Amino acid sequence: MTEPITPDGETERDEAREVGRPPGSNTPETFVVVGGGLTAGRAVETLRSDGYEGRIVLLTDEEELPYERPPLSKGYLLGNDPRSVVFCHDESWYAQNRVEVRRGVRATMLDTTEHLLTLDGYHELRYDQLLLATGSRVRTLDVPGAQLPGVRYLRTLDDSDDLLALLRAAGGGRRMVVVGAGWIGLEVAAAGISHGLSVTVVEPEPCPLRRVLGDELGGFFTALHTDHGVDFRFGASVEEIRGERGGVAGVRLSDGTELPAELVVVGIGVRPAVELAVAAGIAVDDGIVTDERLRTSAQDVFAAGDVADSYRPWLGRRLRVEHWSNAQDGGVAAAHSMLGHDHVYDQVPFFFSDQYDLGLEYSGFVDDVAAPDVRVVYRGDPASREFIAFWLRGDRLLAGMNVNVWDVSGHIEAIVKAGRPVDVARLTDPSVPLESLAG
Ligand code: NAP
Repeated sequence: MTEPITPDGETERDEAREVGRPPGSNTPETFVVVGGGLTAGRAVETLRSDGYEGRIVLLTDEEELPYERPPLSKGYLLGNDPRSVVFCHDESWYAQNRVEVRRGVRATMLDTTEHLLTLDGYHELRYDQLLLATGSRVRTLDVPGAQLPGVRYLRTLDDSDDLLALLRAAGGGRRMVVVGAGWIGLEVAAAGISHGLSVTVVEPEPCPLRRVLGDELGGFFTALHTDHGVDFRFGASVEEIRGERGGVAGVRLSDGTELPAELVVVGIGVRPAVELAVAAGIAVDDGIVTDERLRTSAQDVFAAGDVADSYRPWLGRRLRVEHWSNAQDGGVAAAHSMLGHDHVYDQVPFFFSDQYDLGLEYSGFVDDVAAPDVRVVYRGDPASREFIAFWLRGDRLLAGMNVNVWDVSGHIEAIVKAGRPVDVARLTDPSVPLESLAG
């Protein structure tokens, strides 16, 4: 039995039905993408641009068209960029390209033997090829008061809309406590300062971004934010969020300090959204396990983006990456694999951040930044806030971060990927073109 889903996402009858292509039927082939982020957006775009003519269904549990996340904590949250910048495509693109976007729909069950998805616990959708681009969900703070309405997270466009409205309404003199000094915490702190709030960041480690950058460069970000008026509370954790008149009144820290605040934003990391895959019996480790072609342990099922723990040949191991470029490139690569093209996904992780007048790009991967055999060297002086930091193990480059220096990330990536010994004196000498070290 087949029954089409109409383009507006509604089935034609009320009862559960099977849609898609039952074995042996001559209904069109159906590729399904689960997810509403950049991975999903790039995947459906690539399926069409690479000539796939069959049916494409994109399922997202949000009410928005697929969007990317960097502006949510940067330009859009600062009030500099319009809301429209976040979307992969506008509504007409999906119609023109015959991509059925079903919004507000959750895939609740997956039967990989029957090639069948259950939607919202009821409707069924048969697929020929399936991409799981389910992304990740925020880790939540588990302390008394964490459910108060003034406690916010920043993951979705909805979250960013709400937070922007609160920052604008709060204005001068209102107090925000940010929990977690990771990328979200720092970008939200910078946005809060630019909206005129007074900002305190609470972080259990002795500096921001310690696991990614280590103590020295973590200290660089402490100085950057302190210079802009942010108050850090390191080595502390939140014990309780106190409420008053239905809102937030303040935060009590583990050392007994009371921080008065009207707004609390929590950015303490994310977890991959693997539930559908786990329940379906698909192999999951740090995320959904895939090979270098983004194939999961189930036939005709692929995974990409934050949720995928994919094998990287250049690294010789699997890696799960929670950054923009992995969503972008992973979506493209997964689409190629769904089409049966010979596409090995071997990306070197890359991300960027903007905080105040500082912009940075990071290329590479350091498994343990605190390991005794990992060292940091510089091209340029960090005190000038215009430099490149390189992480090395022996004479191999693991990663590089260019800060207010541009057009070098491609060269850094090439050196990292080549994995050859580098001459550290030349690496740190600004007069030596980086591209000369890549070859
Ligand atoms: P994150 O970068 O993993 O940082 C979370 C921070 O919160 C870490 O410093 C962590 O310390 C700390 N933390 C953990 N538990 C805490 C607690 N109970 N109280 C206070 N601090 C706590 O995660 P995120 O900032 O929430 O960002 C979410 C995801 O979005 C990440 O994958 C991030 O990379 C990504 N993102 C990227 C960008 C960018 O590339 N520019 C921007 C925004 C978000 P420990 O490390 O010790 O656990």
